[in-house]
Amino acid sequence: MEQKKNINIIVGTNNAGKLREIKDLLPKNLIIYSPQELKLKSPKENGKSFKENSLIKAKFFSKKTKMICLADDSGLEINILNKKPGIFSSRWAGPKNNFNIAISKVFDELKKKDLNWKSKKILAQFICVLTLYWPNGKFVNSIGKIKGYISSKKKGKNGFGYDPIFKPLNKKLTFGEMKSKDKHKIDHRFQAFKKIKKFL
Ligand code: IMP
Repeated sequence: MEQKKNINIIVGTNNAGKLREIKDLLPKNLIIYSPQELKLKSPKENGKSFKENSLIKAKFFSKKTKMICLADDSGLEINILNKKPGIFSSRWAGPKNNFNIAISKVFDELKKKDLNWKSKKILAQFICVLTLYWPNGKFVNSIGKIKGYISSKKKGKNGFGYDPIFKPLNKKLTFGEMKSKDKHKIDHRFQAFKKIKKFL
């Protein structure tokens, strides 16, 4: 049987939740590094789209380490908030990455739009753009999405970020209530990963 070569790869995120999820998806012949263990800070995400920010991170970490980098940029888009928080999803949590603050902001913004929002179906989607960047400058990217609704209450303690308020279409549980293995079989990162894994 053909033996796959061991290849070093850096997963370009300083977000522990995402790192865990991406590590679970990657083939076992890869030797996975994180920016944290190499003491690398993340670059400024000054792109105007998930795609631009994903490329900024992948290029930055690949250039720094001379390894292949897999980076993601992702976030939550809420339809009646004109797709906010979008690329600002992480920034809504403030400098201490506090998702109680981010989720309160979502609820406040929804209330400003519609006082009765809790009795309505608030459509939203998670988006993920993955970029694979090689040390020779070649790169590819892929996009994954999952549609759902915003729950009017936080539910569940699993996952990270906005998971306790996101309920996928046709599911009874929020991402925060689901077992992580169930979330990881359907979510935006998995959808993006399915399209990019052939390059690994
Ligand atoms: P960034 O891609 O590191 O700029 O951050 C994306 C932000 O979107 C994260 O900090 C989370 O708040 C949010 N996000 C992305 N994917 C997920 C997810 O699977 N669950 C919950 N929140 C997510």
